[in-house]
Amino acid sequence: MADKQIRQRDDAYFMQAALKEAHKAELAGEVPIGAVIVREGTIIARGHNKRETLQDATLHAELVAIRQACRHQKSWRLDGCDLYVTLEPCVMCAGAIVQARIRTVYYGAADPKAGAVGSIINIFDLKQNHRVTWQGLVLQESCSQILKDFFAHRRAADKAAGSRAARRAAALAEQSKRLGLSDEQSFPADLP
Ligand SMILES: [Zn+2]
Repeated sequence: MADKQIRQRDDAYFMQAALKEAHKAELAGEVPIGAVIVREGTIIARGHNKRETLQDATLHAELVAIRQACRHQKSWRLDGCDLYVTLEPCVMCAGAIVQARIRTVYYGAADPKAGAVGSIINIFDLKQNHRVTWQGLVLQESCSQILKDFFAHRRAADKAAGSRAARRAAALAEQSKRLGLSDEQSFPADLP
């Protein structure tokens, strides 16, 4: 890609790419959160929330993207890499971001209940061996709207199904069906 084009890419451009990932999560029945990792103006990794699909508590969008970026860089050190995520990272993801030596984090919507970049705590402000810089509220409106819509639909589905448990059971059955048929790239086999 031409240098000029690279320079024209900005925070909004990369957050749009993260939003695209969030939509993928939504299509799979997941809470719509997406992330991308950028190095020298190029997206080197993408991830979206896969917690329900793979029933794995650690598969937040950021961690999926970090794992992919480490494979891409053939290194656990993501020096000079920036992460864009549609929702303020949680404690686990903020910790992993420090561990991976990510340079800057840009997030979309704040998460007052679990956000660890200023909402309930700021992990990046702690004295650690690596300092992450961060910027919040990039495309905040779109990033929070996709979540609001998702939860509104889910509440409606709960109501229609009679209970949250009934809706969850139906969603799980639907997910296993989809897993069997999915032509989407499955999660890499190197997961422990
Ligand atoms: Zn997280």
